[in-house]
Amino acid sequence: MHRPICITGGKLVLEESVLEDGAVVLMEGRIAYAGPADLVPPAIAPPGGEAVPFSEWERYDAQGAWVFPGFVDVHIHGGGGADTMDGTVEALRRIASLHAAHGTTCLLATTTTESQERIVAAARAVREAMALSKEDGWHGASIAGMHLEGPYINPKRAGAQNPAYIRPASVAELEEVMAILEEGFRLVTLAPEMEGAKEAIEFLRRAGVAVSMGHTDATFEQAMAGFDAGITHVTHTYNAMRPLHHRDPGVVGAAFLSGPEVRCEVIADGVHVHAKAIEALWRAKGTDGICLVTDAIAAAGMPEGEYELGRLQVTVKGRECRLADGTLAGSVLTMDQAVGFMVREVGVPVHEAAQMAALNPAREAGLDARKGSLRVGKDADVAVLDADFRTVATWVGGRRVFGDPA
Ligand SMILES: [Zn+2]
Repeated sequence: MHRPICITGGKLVLEESVLEDGAVVLMEGRIAYAGPADLVPPAIAPPGGEAVPFSEWERYDAQGAWVFPGFVDVHIHGGGGADTMDGTVEALRRIASLHAAHGTTCLLATTTTESQERIVAAARAVREAMALSKEDGWHGASIAGMHLEGPYINPKRAGAQNPAYIRPASVAELEEVMAILEEGFRLVTLAPEMEGAKEAIEFLRRAGVAVSMGHTDATFEQAMAGFDAGITHVTHTYNAMRPLHHRDPGVVGAAFLSGPEVRCEVIADGVHVHAKAIEALWRAKGTDGICLVTDAIAAAGMPEGEYELGRLQVTVKGRECRLADGTLAGSVLTMDQAVGFMVREVGVPVHEAAQMAALNPAREAGLDARKGSLRVGKDADVAVLDADFRTVATWVGGRRVFGDPA
């Protein structure tokens, strides 16, 4: 048994508000208490165990920093020099570790448009990493499953997805991935106007996999029909989709007018989308309707230079990742920076930015019973961020995976 850990002296970012001088107690991998510091119980017992008095707890002083629920990122390709498409557990370990150093405690490893053979190899590695990431030796975010981005997309809106592997949606291919990942198969980005999409959406909805609209040239009408067919998510809204034009409102217009069940991803790095365009989306969808994602590639957390994404060459300079022709190709964004951008540049209250970075994506991935907020009984996933929204400490399932010891 591990000693309970009490994080005090911080501003607790709860679902509805920020609590100054809050405390959160982590015990046996779960949150045992979250509330005012002066109401922390004198002893806490694990389920079926004996009470441990406060004097025996480990303590961590947050020194006035923000204490966030661990972030959930449903759209991560890579980080720390590794990519999901490497198809190895080692790559996923590096990705999980790099993003944990930026407050992410749970992620969906995201594929790119590729051959079925390579997608299957990636799915096998994700399956193995899902089990390993629950164990003590894993020093990173937990891998909750996979987000299949492409290959069933529209070549007109390929963005940085490799057009050579774009193909009609295939239920047989999806079944193969499902057989490997089971409940770890959580999200699929596809273009609803393309051949085979209707059958694929139907299959995925029946199988309990969330479907996202992305890399799509759908008209407004086609996009709305996609939502009616069961699509509940929009992949990096504004990027790689038919934009909003006053005589052709496109996918962006449909996203704005979509129902409350639809959540819209946004890459809040100041490069992919203007802050005011994010604000417009926020006004249309409300806080419940936005999921922050990084869309990070292998170059995240690495020096500037040449990298690869889906067998395409990417040049990374500053905050920008681009193909040779200038097309944006993922990001080097981390979730702590995205939260900071939403607060400082878009004007979102801190607890609402936390909801966009943790609870909403957890809901999308079907993980909100265990993840996404500092609520008693949920997984002990916590990120401490300083006043500049830089991560200083991270716990995953009560295990310290990042930061200097207190
Ligand atoms: Zn992506």
